[in-house]
Formats: sequence, structure tokens, C-alpha cells
Amino acid sequence: MSKDTTNPYESMIRRFDVAAKIMNLDDDTYNILKTPHRQYLASLPIKMDDGKIQVFEGYRIVHNTSRGPSKGGIRYSMDVNLDEVKALAAWMTWKCAIADIPYGGAKGGITVDPSKLSEGELERLTRAYTAAMVDVFGVDKDIPAPDVATGPRVMSWIVDEYSKLKGAFTPGVVTGKPIHLGGSEGRVEATGRGVTVAAMEAMKKIKMDPKKAIGAVQGFGNVGSITAKHMDEHGVRIVAISDHTGAFYNPKGINIEKAIAYRNSNHGVLKGFADGTEITNEDLLTLDVDVLCPCALENQITAANADQIKAQLIVEGANGPITAGADEILTGKGIIVVPDILANGGGVTVSYFEWTQNRFGYYYPEDEINRRADRYMINAFQNVWSVGEKHKVSLRIAAYIFALEKVTISLKSRGVY
Ligand code: GLU
Repeated sequence: MSKDTTNPYESMIRRFDVAAKIMNLDDDTYNILKTPHRQYLASLPIKMDDGKIQVFEGYRIVHNTSRGPSKGGIRYSMDVNLDEVKALAAWMTWKCAIADIPYGGAKGGITVDPSKLSEGELERLTRAYTAAMVDVFGVDKDIPAPDVATGPRVMSWIVDEYSKLKGAFTPGVVTGKPIHLGGSEGRVEATGRGVTVAAMEAMKKIKMDPKKAIGAVQGFGNVGSITAKHMDEHGVRIVAISDHTGAFYNPKGINIEKAIAYRNSNHGVLKGFADGTEITNEDLLTLDVDVLCPCALENQITAANADQIKAQLIVEGANGPITAGADEILTGKGIIVVPDILANGGGVTVSYFEWTQNRFGYYYPEDEINRRADRYMINAFQNVWSVGEKHKVSLRIAAYIFALEKVTISLKSRGVY
């Protein structure tokens, strides 16, 4: 086995290389898709509440637009750096192709700890970032959305700033907006709901009964908490949950509704949650459960701990929670991993519905959105599963092959001069 890496871009390339070889991807296409199409960096000077200026780094990377305008979230985190955003942008290209929605891939971010900023500072930072990227973004060019530590509040500021700068109200320039500003029903729950649909499809394939299954979910933000909620509703006994402030274990099953209510009343964190004993985030990953959903950040399962994983099924709610080195170990142990670019595609799928609704100016009810989103997820799962069977590869490699095939067709029919 080659040496493991925690650089997300290297992790992406390692899987891309394996897939490209299996499918005999031609060198020209390989070289085009290996690197992002465009990379934008901005220094963002912000007047802080104390009157001093602080300069932040902002990124937007457009990986590919062969299948349509680029799509992908914006994250606010101290871990944001060029290689991370490059990987996340490429993953969006693959994710949109797998979900079968007409987009390319992009990602953005600002290197910042948002918990250290006041609401006013966050607003100024978001507006400065939007102004810096005003000619990058566009309804038919590049459409941001929420990601780690951003949400409807941040999206509203982006719509406002972009609309002011362009002189026209343009809600379709971002998705993940609040409902009153052109957001879609079902968008908040979409990623966690889709993770659960993917988990249920995988369980059917490996004959795991959700009503007898035990699960653990890492991360209790938008993706983790909704995943836990939906898994619980499908009968999976969730025995452990966590966020960056702590992890909690209760073999009888955690009351997820209570956990969400507790978090909402506790500044958005689980710290101090009483329903369960406190364990560490590392312990949570290696618990003796049937299904594990890493829904937090990258590089949680690496070559260092993959050996200790006991779950038979892992469904990735986060982007990049498993390294390429860990993949090899998990595959060797016969563990089924439903990869991020398949499993968490429910979010961007409902973003697509939001964008089409903005263009029509006509809005669908939640049950309609959910029904359509579930159908997209099931189709995506079946497609990737079939590729996996055809090539006798893991679902991760199958997902890359499936995505690469689709992107390659569009790229070739548009042509390169
Ligand atoms: N940030 C989410 C993702 O990684 C959503 C992207 C979107 O809705 O455009 O898939």
C-alpha cells in the first residue's frame, strides 16, 4: 500500500487515478480534469468591531463547467486552504454528474474561525467576499451554496450584495436561501435526508435490516443531526452522536429529537448533553456498530485508525472524511463505503430544484421536493452500484468512474480548441 495522505487534493487524485486507469481514460481528458479550470484568490480587508482592519483570505475554485454552470458551497473554517478547496471543487464536479443534475463543480471558502467574529463582522466579511467574486458568480456561471459554518443567513447577505452590485434582484445566484428569499422547501433537510436514502439503499443490497441495525453519527451540524434524525425514523438505533464539543454514547439509543432541541437551546453545540456517557470523537468512530455516518470534516478515518473500524457500512455525509489510504484498508476488510460524492448529493440536488424554481418563479411544496429528491438519490445509487458490479470495484471507485464517464462525454462533445 502506498503512503497515506491527509491532503484532500492528493486524496482526490489517488482515487481519480485508479478510476482513470480502470476505464482507460485518455490522457487529454485526464490532463484537463486533473486540475481546476479556474482559481480565484482574494484578500479581504474587514473593519473589525474594535476599529482595526483584519485581512482574510477568500477562495473560489471552479473545477469544471463541461456539464453546466459550476455549483458548490462556501465554507468558513480555519482549515480552508488552496488544496482543500481544489479537492472540494473537483468533488462537486463528480457529485453533480452522479446526481445527474446539469452542473459543473466549484467550491469556495474563507480562512476564518466564524465563532470568533461578531454578526456584524461576519456580514462585512461575507459582503467583501461577494464583491470580490461578483464577476465569478452568476445564475448561469457559478452558483454558491452553504457548506461548513455557512447557512441561509450568509446566503441572504450574498443575494443582497450581489443584487446591489448588479442592479437587479438575483436570488438564483445562490441556493440554500431562506424560504422567504426564494429558498426551496426541503433544502435544509436535503443532505441528511439523502444520506439516509443512500444508507437504506445500501442496507437493502447487503441485507442489513435497519430496524435491527445500530448506528453512530459523527457531526451534529445540519448534515449530521438530520442524518441521525432520519436514520432514527427508519428504525436504526443511533447509539452515539458528536460534535466538536463532545461525543455521547448511549447503548439504549440516543433520543435524537431531544439532542436537537438541546443543541438549539445550547448555542448550537452538544456540550453538556446528558443523555449518554461522554466518549471521544475517536472512540465514536471505532464503536461496535453496524452503520457509521461521518458527517463532520475531512480525514477522520485514516490509515492510522481504519483497522479498528467495526461498522459493516459507512455512509459519508461529510466531504472527504476517509483518506485514500484508509479506503484501501476498509475495502480489504470488506466494509462497504457509500462515498461522499454519492451519499451527500441530496443537498446539491435540492439546490438544483431551488435554482429551477427561482428561474420559473414557481414554488413546489415540500412533499413534492422530497419525492423528487429521493428518486434522484435512488437512481444515483443504482447507477453507481451497477458500475461497481461491472468493474468489481468499491463504490468509491465506481462513483469516480461513473462521474468521469459523464463529464467526459460533455467535455468531448463541446470540444477543446
Ligand atoms: N456544500 C454542499 C455540498 O458539498 C452543497 C452544495 C450546493 O448545494 O451547491 O454538496
